[in-house]
Amino acid sequence: MDEDILTTLKILIIGESGVGKSSLLLRFTEDNFDPEQTLTIGVDFKTKRLNIDGSRVKLAIWDTAGQERFRTLTPSYYRDAQGAILVFDVSSYATFSKLEMWLNELETYSTKNDIIKMIVGNKIDVDKREVSREEAMRFAKRHHTLYIEASAKTKDGVESAFEELVHKIIQTPNLWDS
Ligand code: GDP
Ligand code: MG
Repeated sequence: MDEDILTTLKILIIGESGVGKSSLLLRFTEDNFDPEQTLTIGVDFKTKRLNIDGSRVKLAIWDTAGQERFRTLTPSYYRDAQGAILVFDVSSYATFSKLEMWLNELETYSTKNDIIKMIVGNKIDVDKREVSREEAMRFAKRHHTLYIEASAKTKDGVESAFEELVHKIIQTPNLWDS
């Protein structure tokens, strides 16, 4: 069964440092949460197999290892990605404000014009909230991206974020069959 040929999709996770990118990836791929998570855990990418809409796909999800702090993600990080997860922290308005900049980075560096984007408002388990769901949804709509709220800590929304992104990629022929 493992011999089956799977389509591999390249998915990026971007956003400000500390918003929970690595935590979302760890929760999704290993169903784990490590509050002590440090930058050194950042790997090139993790893989995960998914069954979606009758298709078996393998995701190669690329994390950053702290380079986002210095805006030094290289073009090879973005190259050929079919999907991007843009993360902000709902308890930090500053991280939401930076989404526009991350969308510009995608526009500049992604080699696929119709790359599918999913904005994830992470850390909804935190009491102090600075970004409302309504404002985030308006922003996402204006930028033609998907939006979901999540918590890497409690697992809320994490699977849906990745699955809805992949679902949309599968529905987009140019991305899917090349
Ligand atoms: P990254 O820099 O974007 O990769 O962020 P990390 O995944 O390293 O997370 C930064 C900090 O936020 C760590 O202390 C995490 O434990 C914490 N964190 C990440 N996701 C959540 C979440 O959903 N809820 C809470 N309460 N803390 C989180
Ligand atoms: Mg990280």
